[in-house]
Amino acid sequence: MTIHAYGAHAADRPLESIGITRRAPGAHDIQIDIAYCGVCHSDIHQVRSEWAGTLYPCVPGHEIVGRVSAVGAHVSAFAIGDLVGVGCIVDSCRHCADCDDGLENYCDHMVGTYNGPTEDAPGHTLGGYSQQIVVHERYVLRVRHPEADLAAVAPLLCAGITTYSPLRHWNVGPGHKVGVVGIGGLGHMGIKLAHAMGARVVAFTTSESKRQDALALGAREVVVSRNEEEMSSRAASLDFILNTVAAPHDLDPFFALLKRDGTMALVGAPATPHPSTQVFNLIMKRRSLAGSMIGGIPETQEMLDFCAKHAIVADIEKIRADEINRAYERMLRGDVKYRFVIDCASLAA
Ligand code: NAP
Ligand code: ZN
Ligand code: ZN
Repeated sequence: MTIHAYGAHAADRPLESIGITRRAPGAHDIQIDIAYCGVCHSDIHQVRSEWAGTLYPCVPGHEIVGRVSAVGAHVSAFAIGDLVGVGCIVDSCRHCADCDDGLENYCDHMVGTYNGPTEDAPGHTLGGYSQQIVVHERYVLRVRHPEADLAAVAPLLCAGITTYSPLRHWNVGPGHKVGVVGIGGLGHMGIKLAHAMGARVVAFTTSESKRQDALALGAREVVVSRNEEEMSSRAASLDFILNTVAAPHDLDPFFALLKRDGTMALVGAPATPHPSTQVFNLIMKRRSLAGSMIGGIPETQEMLDFCAKHAIVADIEKIRADEINRAYERMLRGDVKYRFVIDCASLAA
């Protein structure tokens, strides 16, 4: 059966309505009627082949929430009607050390929700800007938020887990002072989550206009990173920095903010490298530079449950699918508060 989706036929073409097919659910598959799909900056990087290797047609979208509409014969954990989510991962090898540890995100054979290898037509996976998706039960998450929050839950499936996982890995909690750099989809979740974990959050933004918002999101202090005085007054004061910026920028001013033994974890994934960093900024206080990619399936469920318990959702602006190209332009200008979410009901022609 053909279903409606939104995608691009080439790197330099806008997204448009296209018809796609999904496989019939296998024994361990869940078929999901997609209600909402969040719009991640990675969607822009990939649909425009900024990371190279994008296969077309490309249907982006890995912040998927909806309702189970069919289950395979051997599925017991999910039933028709359940509220569920799918994030960035729809398959992996299931037997390597990473998969055994529930860190499918680091499996060498992780299959992304879009642009990943599959036997399904057209030979690569197609994402959540669509009416329906079929996913192996291992990669389906349970949504425990109230149904009224569903649209605002969608961004948790990437922006939520991508910020939750490093905050947990570096043991962020009470007594910690944590910087979050870039207040976009990831950054605004990073502020909410670090605050909920008990840390004192300092938000760093290039946008003066986001100052008040950042405080409302849970930051205790806001620094406009272009203001050298504001930056230098925080020298050597932070235990950990989560850097979510989607574009290349000078990392050195941020290293200077870390205390001895502090770490800056990069989650932003710009298409071109950051300017080279001064090694002395790391050596002098035994600082670390690290990276982190999304999170595994068990940790994604843990994050969803943490957010349900703490009533945490994303701040969103709902759009119709045919508004996606304009939404991308706004994201590139940093003009989003703080995540666009496609109402997939708008895909029905
Ligand atoms: P977003 O909503 O567009 O937010 C990015 C923010 O970065 C902007 O709002 C802006 O915040 C800041 N920024 C500063 N200078 C910028 C510039 N020249 N161009 C664009 N942004 C600039 O993006 P997102 O969805 O949060 O994603 C952020 C990055 O994380 C992307 O590169 C994405 O691909 C990557 N990502 C990585 C993972 C992972 O697993 N590691 C997962 C998801 C996404 P201010 O206005 O506050 O400065
Ligand atoms: Zn994403
Ligand atoms: Zn594996």
